Order: sequence, then structure tokens, then C-alpha cells
Amino acid sequence: MKTEVTMDQLVSLCKRRGFVYQSSEIYGGLSGAWDYGPLGVELKNRIRDCWWKEMTQLQDNIVGLDAAIMMHPKVWEASGHVDNFSDPMVDCRQCKNRFRADQVDLASPCPECGGKGTFTEPREFNLMFSTHLGAVKNDSSIVYLRPETAQGIFVNFKNVMQTSRVKIPFGIAQIGKAFRNEVTTKSFIFRTCEFEQLEMQFFVKPGDEDQWFSYWKESRNAYYKRLGIREDFLRYSDHGPDELAHYAKVACDIEYRFPIGWQEIEGIHSRTDFDLSRHQEYSGKDLNYLDPDTKERFVPYVVETSAGLTRTVLMVLADAYEEETLKDGEKRTVMHFHPSVAPVTAAVLPLVKKDGLDELASSIERDLREHFPTFYDKAGAIGRRYRRMDEIGTPFCITIDYQTKDDQTVTLRFRDTMEQVRVPVGELAARINEEIRAYARM
Ligand code: ATP
Repeated sequence: MKTEVTMDQLVSLCKRRGFVYQSSEIYGGLSGAWDYGPLGVELKNRIRDCWWKEMTQLQDNIVGLDAAIMMHPKVWEASGHVDNFSDPMVDCRQCKNRFRADQVDLASPCPECGGKGTFTEPREFNLMFSTHLGAVKNDSSIVYLRPETAQGIFVNFKNVMQTSRVKIPFGIAQIGKAFRNEVTTKSFIFRTCEFEQLEMQFFVKPGDEDQWFSYWKESRNAYYKRLGIREDFLRYSDHGPDELAHYAKVACDIEYRFPIGWQEIEGIHSRTDFDLSRHQEYSGKDLNYLDPDTKERFVPYVVETSAGLTRTVLMVLADAYEEETLKDGEKRTVMHFHPSVAPVTAAVLPLVKKDGLDELASSIERDLREHFPTFYDKAGAIGRRYRRMDEIGTPFCITIDYQTKDDQTVTLRFRDTMEQVRVPVGELAARINEEIRAYARM
């Protein structure tokens, strides 16, 4: 049984090995902002690419989009965000800290300063960041940093429909930054003010939305399992009527058991024709769909899948972490990343850095580069080099020894089992690709 990871262990490993750093750390850090280091950006990009492949390349009827972060301010009036996208907040009169009203007990002392009876009445606090576009700072120059990527898709619905020969049902997928002025930001990269979303809006005929909602709910959950996430750490959480967002008919979250408890990783929402109808009303443009077969005209209904990329990175890190005690009593920290998302697929290690083994290893590593991300390391005892690779989740280590010079075979070591097999150099790339395809989480 794998031991449970704590958030502190994750933060520490991420800092130590260059996955995630605190933003502006040399100035004391900025609350709610994090930077992705050399390994973190590889992990994040590979998770992003898996999602993109899953949601566009492997689908019959989903196309991509990349809309601007800043949009016409009327977009956010139409979407309801100007009026509704707020959390009720309370301030502590004594220490001036602000809290989400649903996250503190108003009758209890302030969690920061211990003050009793110091909370103000809850007030609505809009989560959108605003700035001014152009040289003049007045009400008419206000623009918002988008709090979700979805609206970029809705306002481009007509463009995509007219230029892509898509027919309903079809989807539009997008990956991009979103910004929310979140007050509670103490959970590492779980909740941040700047984050990335992975969203897909699926346009369907009114009446078909329940069937598509069930389809996407199952399909998205199956995707996380294929990504190697432990099944018993995933669950559905259906929204009750009082939890539904202003646009939703039904909604369900996929939750993961994070070190801070069960929390949402992705929302699947049946949004009716709320967004397209509102944009039709506010823009004055016709956003109806004309069915080419039946000649029916209608505003499509939308089922969306909305996940956080940076939150998925946290889930993948938490799920992969293990501190294992080996048979000889030695301890190792190992990240069981799925090989499709591991920052390094294969490390190439000469047993010693003399007698030509290092040159040979280096040339093998160069040949493998075009197949997958590789890493070359010749410094230190071989056992310690294996441990370093285990700790950053490298699924395969290739060791070049004296026998390699004689018979052109190398040792291939597997991270999870630590088993080693002998493989001809010429077959390495094919063998590793085969192992990646067959990989199932231990
Ligand atoms: P929460 O209730 O946690 O604030 P939400 O229900 O408002 O989240 P959605 O608007 O449905 O979240 O956003 C879709 C996804 O975007 C979430 O499932 C999450 O993965 C991600 N996400 C939302 N807010 C943040 C944030 N502040 N930091 C990181 N990821 C976020």
C-alpha cells in the first residue's frame, strides 16, 4: 500500500527538483502565483498535449480554437459574469484578512488572528480582474482578463460553423490562461489567480443534451484512468439544485482525492442555450444553426467539459508520489508518472565515464532524442543516478557497460519494478515505445 502524500512533501519535491517554484521568490514571493521550472513545464506541456490529442485528434467532430485573453467587455455582461461571478466575502476587522464566507465559521474566532466577533457582514466580491485598454482610463476603456476560456468559444461559434463544415453535434476545444481574483490561495497550485483551463463546448440539438451529458461524464472519467490516475481516488459529485451555476441545467464534477481532501478537477455542465442566446441578444447577431437535412433552425444547446490544466498537474504529482521502503531497508522516493506525461522518458547512463563508455552512451542518447524526451547523466554512482531518475519519475533507464562494447546490448531498467533486461541498442526505441503503449499503473 502506497503511503499518503502530504502537500508539504509535494511542495518540497517540486522545489527541490525544479517542477514548481514560488513566483518572484527572490522578492519574497507573490501570493497565489507559481512558476513552472524545467521539469514542471515539460510535465504540464505533456499533460496539455495528451488532452489536446484526446479531445481533437481522436474525435470525429471536435475542432480547436485559440481565442484572445482580452475580449469585448460586453461579452462578460452577456455571459452574466459582471453581475454574478462573485463570492460572498467577509473581512476580519482586526487583522484585515479577507475570507470566503463559505470557508469560515462566522461564529468562530478569526483563523488568522484569533479575534472573536471581528468578522464583517458578507459582501459580494467580483472575481474578475479588470484593466484599461488604450491610453484613456475611463469606464468605457475597461477590459477584463477572462475568468474562463469558454466565452471565447461561444463568441466564435458562428465563425467556426461557417468556416469548418462542422455539423451538429460538434465540439470546439480550447486551452488557455484564465484569471480569477481568488482570495483563498493557500493550497499550492490547486487554486491560483492565474491558471490554465482545458475546455470543450459540445453543441447539440435541444433535447439531446441529457444523452451527451452522460456520454461526456463517462468519457472524461475514463480518460483520467487511462492517464494512470488511481481509480479509487476519482469520484463523481453531482451538483444539487442549490449548487448550480447561473447558466447550468445539470452539472457534475469529477473529483480527485487531493492531499487536502476530495476536490473538483473537472466540471461537466449542461449549459442549455443560455450562452448563445445571451450573445445573440447582446450582439444582435443571429446565432441560430440551420440543420442542412431537416431545415430546422435552432440555437444549439451546450454540454461542456471544463478542467484545470494546472490543477491536473497537481493531481498527477500527488497521484504519482511514493516513498517506498525497499527489501534491503533502503528508502526511495519515486514518482510513478504515466510514461506519456513523464518529463523525461528515458535516461541514458554510462556505467563509468572512461574507456569510451561515456562517448558511446552519449551517441545512443542523441539517437534516441528524436523519439522521446531523454536525459544524459554520467556523474556519480549508478545507484544514486537511478534514485535521481526515480525521484523525477523517469520510467526507463538505459545503462551502457563494458558488455555494450562487445555485443551492442544495453541494460533497460524499469522504474516501477526496478527490473532490468538486456536489449540490443538497435531495438531500444521500438521496445520503449512498446512499453509505453502497454503501460498499466502498478
Ligand atoms: P471552484 O468551485 O473550485 O472555485 P469552479 O467550480 O468555479 O471551481 P469552474 O469554473 O467549473 O470551477 O472551472 C473549471 C475548472 O477550472 C475547475 O474544475 C478547476 O480544475 C479549474 N479552476 C477553476 N478555478 C481555478 C483556480 N483558481 N486555480 C486553478 N484551477 C482552477
